[in-house]
Amino acid sequence: MSTTPLYGGIEAGGTKWVCAVADAHGHVVATGVIPTTTPRTTIAAAVRFFRDHRTLAAIGVGSFGPVDLRAGSPTYGHIMATPKPGWAHTDVVSPLRTALHVPVGLDTDVNAAALGEWRRGAGQGLETVAYMTVGTGIGLGTVANGRLLHGLLHPEFGHIRVPHDRSRDVFAGSCPFHGDCLEGLASGEAMRRRWGQRPENLDEPAVWELEAEYLAHAVMNLTYTLSPERIIIGGGVAKRAGLMARIRARAFDLAAGYPAIPALTDRSAMDDYVVGPSLGDHSGITGAIELGVRCLP
Ligand code: ZN
Repeated sequence: MSTTPLYGGIEAGGTKWVCAVADAHGHVVATGVIPTTTPRTTIAAAVRFFRDHRTLAAIGVGSFGPVDLRAGSPTYGHIMATPKPGWAHTDVVSPLRTALHVPVGLDTDVNAAALGEWRRGAGQGLETVAYMTVGTGIGLGTVANGRLLHGLLHPEFGHIRVPHDRSRDVFAGSCPFHGDCLEGLASGEAMRRRWGQRPENLDEPAVWELEAEYLAHAVMNLTYTLSPERIIIGGGVAKRAGLMARIRARAFDLAAGYPAIPALTDRSAMDDYVVGPSLGDHSGITGAIELGVRCLP
């Protein structure tokens, strides 16, 4: 019998929970997908999946949120107010820890994806990396000097403001809190409401020029606030062919050569600065497993 410790990971999404078991090097030995239904049913199914692997040393969870990550908070490990029916105020950590008798590491889904890309993907070998996901919503995970950035709660970069030229874009924005914040203007949901169709069905160049405009501003805000060595842009909307090239070109113009470092002054270096995820759709589960590895003392 092998004595190599195994780690569990859960990419806990609003429509499915992806579960995996891997060794400390990230080699996956089992995977499973559980539809997200009620908290009780979904968590019980995850427990059953992991019970088949009795040598687990720890489990990591990258969860949709917002999630309470504040150490010492009475509701640590709970999903907070969420529009997902039945899931508000759900404790996702305690039921797993109690049923499986292992430590459980928790972070946001996007922080998990950032950690996965930093550890084993497009951010390998760097100290500080920003991972932005552009899908139904917009989120950000950051590894800063080798650690996930938390602070007050966790970054909510999707809700920053970006310039909104109403003569070019009359759409008021889709964010229920802010209207035309970044997520309200550039998320997949914003695109669907502005144009009346899902992003994958939109082919007009002007649609994607506008999208690149907003995301290029996001790239420059990240550049100037966090000084990441690389910005990784993932999520369903970001898979659009040609979008990354438009974002790079516009960000290069917005930078206007300042500061004078290669990523911002050498057009070809920008190709290495703003990139897609190299783990494809596996960034999140890879990072969730790593959250398990890292939650042990
Ligand atoms: Zn907002």
